[in-house]
Amino acid sequence: MSNRKYKIAALAGDGIGPEVVREAMKVLRATENKFDFQLEITEAPVGWAGIDELGKALPDDTLKLCRSSDSILFGSVGLPERDPTIPKEERPERAALLALRKEFGLFANLRPVKLPKELSHACPLKAERQGEGIDMLVVRELTGGMYFGQPKTTETLDNGEIQAIDTMIYSSSEIERIAHVAFKSAQLRRKHLTSIDKANVLENGVLWREVVSKVSADYPEVTVEHMFVDNAAMQLLLKPTQFDVVLCENMFGDILSDEAAALAGSLGMLPSASLGVTSDEKTFGFYEPAGGTAPDIAGKDLANPIAQILSTAMMLRHSFGENEAADTIEKAVVFAITQGLRTGDIYNSDDPNAHQVGTTAMGDAIAEAVVA
Ligand code: NAD
Repeated sequence: MSNRKYKIAALAGDGIGPEVVREAMKVLRATENKFDFQLEITEAPVGWAGIDELGKALPDDTLKLCRSSDSILFGSVGLPERDPTIPKEERPERAALLALRKEFGLFANLRPVKLPKELSHACPLKAERQGEGIDMLVVRELTGGMYFGQPKTTETLDNGEIQAIDTMIYSSSEIERIAHVAFKSAQLRRKHLTSIDKANVLENGVLWREVVSKVSADYPEVTVEHMFVDNAAMQLLLKPTQFDVVLCENMFGDILSDEAAALAGSLGMLPSASLGVTSDEKTFGFYEPAGGTAPDIAGKDLANPIAQILSTAMMLRHSFGENEAADTIEKAVVFAITQGLRTGDIYNSDDPNAHQVGTTAMGDAIAEAVVA
């Protein structure tokens, strides 16, 4: 037996979280059997599940478990009907999600957007704009820029006007470290990087472009293109197939990653990874689906577990270096789709090959394809 052992904290959270995390764990267990590594998966409550069980959205024991784990598999948190009943700072997204981002220094967010040809109908763009299929990775800086810069305030001026201030700040080292993540990702893909900025208007954009150009010298095999954010928003709709890796600062990445996500047709298909460094310089990974708790379909065996399952593939690749196992999960997902399996969000009644299945059946099929 191998000595490759990985400790995973599984925080399912609220809404569809427990259903899709259950399927993701099933698939992880299937890879464990096949690839001869050992997974120590420990479940703990977070979000409203944390509040109901232990009085806090991020209970102390849950945080302790995360600190002693190699990575976190996260479902999602928050329930729109319950969130407004408690103070903002105690609500799940702020008290759990943002707290975990801060705790583990998660500065890089990786969001792959892949539209398989079989799901062409789910994309809002015409088939001719989808080419051979859309396949890009948005790399977003997660801890800097406008969302965190100080001063950040709302004040009343002497003339009675109310003025709001947000400050966009980036240091060259912050840009450098996210650029390295993006270039390394491009090396593993089609080796093209599009760096997004607003260098024609923002000082931040000028520095961003300068630093990315400098870092590019370390990756001569990756071609680099600089694109203004307004043009990028347009190009994503006009010719999404031109993009391989898209590198963005925090706010531009927030907006463009959602726009790119829409091209894949359903949030249920999109995984994400957030990478960081802990205070003791350990690399840490946090893996979750792009969507939220989807209360409209929770508990009905309707949720698509693929986003959560693909987030385990990202975990195996980025946290544990188990690339073969990661590839196997991704291929198993493609196999299930090629076989015609569809949860409601990606089902098309005009497709004679498609048949609708529930969350559990989709998870079972992918886990079976992993071991096959
Ligand atoms: P949502 O992502 O939960 O749902 C948006 C739409 O996408 C819904 O119609 C939903 O049914 C669908 N959807 C999402 N995931 C799906 C899946 N796996 N399979 C099939 N369909 C899926 O966004 P929302 O409705 O705006 O938010 C609901 C709650 O989730 C809110 O409380 C919000 O704060 C929270 N939220 C949490 C996170 C997180 O924990 N990271 C992220 C976003 C939203």
